[in-house]
Amino acid sequence: ITILGIETSCDETSVAVVEDGAKIKSNIISSQIEVHQKYGGVVPEIASRKHLELINSVIEQALDEAVIDFSQINAVAVTYGPGLVGALLVGVAAGKAIAFGLDIPLIGINHMEGHVYANMLDHPSPQFPIICLVVSGGHTDLVLIPSHGNYQLLGSTRDDAAGEAFDKVARVLGLGYPGGPQIDGLAALGNDKAIAFPRAYLEEKSLDFSFSGVKTAVINYLNRCKQKGIPVNKPDVAASFRRAVVDVLVDKALQAAELFDTNTIMLAGGVAANKLLRDELSYRSAILGLDLITPPPILCTDNAAMIACAAYFKYLRHDFAPLTLNAVPGLKLGEDRY
Ligand code: ATP
Ligand code: MG
Ligand code: FE
Repeated sequence: ITILGIETSCDETSVAVVEDGAKIKSNIISSQIEVHQKYGGVVPEIASRKHLELINSVIEQALDEAVIDFSQINAVAVTYGPGLVGALLVGVAAGKAIAFGLDIPLIGINHMEGHVYANMLDHPSPQFPIICLVVSGGHTDLVLIPSHGNYQLLGSTRDDAAGEAFDKVARVLGLGYPGGPQIDGLAALGNDKAIAFPRAYLEEKSLDFSFSGVKTAVINYLNRCKQKGIPVNKPDVAASFRRAVVDVLVDKALQAAELFDTNTIMLAGGVAANKLLRDELSYRSAILGLDLITPPPILCTDNAAMIACAAYFKYLRHDFAPLTLNAVPGLKLGEDRY
């Protein structure tokens, strides 16, 4: 089964061709980072217009690189939420047009479910139930996955998402956008015990997160240095901040696995590309005898291969969307609105 996947929820225009949810024939990711960089974040109107300019050529590139034409596609999958409404609409319209024109099934995919399924490209039959730590630019969720396509939200952030905290701290450090990869790189050169930034564990047994405290602590620290005229050691700040965030993420993911008696842990979302998070979770899961599954770093951030993979499992269940499918900017994981 060959599925064409389309992803336009934020600032990546991505189209992929994936066979049987496992074999990536192409995965074109056209990032708009340069366009948004000068604003320090994604500008929704610009993102939407850029998607519109790019979508047809990215579809063409994906088919070319996969060396197939439209007639060989069995279904078209598209992200219809959550995300920026104008950005989503471009992908949804393209997906619907292709499905209608070729008379093939349309599959509507939740962007966060796509992030989860980035894991399944390499691991099509993981051992359920699974605890998945979803950490991205807009989400920080701990999810229990009892079987394919079923999700129980165990906890999430009460303020900033993990990726958002990385981006904001990078900004005050004068690093570029997106900030996660920059902090990750700089942190490798610093001492993570240099500065004691706070870790928010919230109430006992809570699987919720909070990252606004650690973010504010970094800002206050930088202001204090400036007032006192003390030079800032940026690698130390980056390393200490990254350590504070990763400690809480790893502790809570392992706590969830214990609480729900699961043997498999998955990482998903852009922050899953973080080197310390991957290393630390891998080290500590191994001690506990848990299986850790992570997507390769390139499949952690937004891409259409993960959308086509999630769609393959919906295809097997004949879970198709009608051609009236619309963008749903606030779509929740586990709910379908079509
Ligand atoms: P969402 O998926 O919640 O809708 P999004 O699609 O904007 O949000 P992703 O593309 O999944 O988010 O991830 C982007 C985020 O991941 C950014 O906040 C970025 O800084 C962060 N990120 C990417 N690489 C790393 C890294 N190595 N370390 C930490 N954070 C990272
Ligand atoms: Mg992005
Ligand atoms: Fe994303």
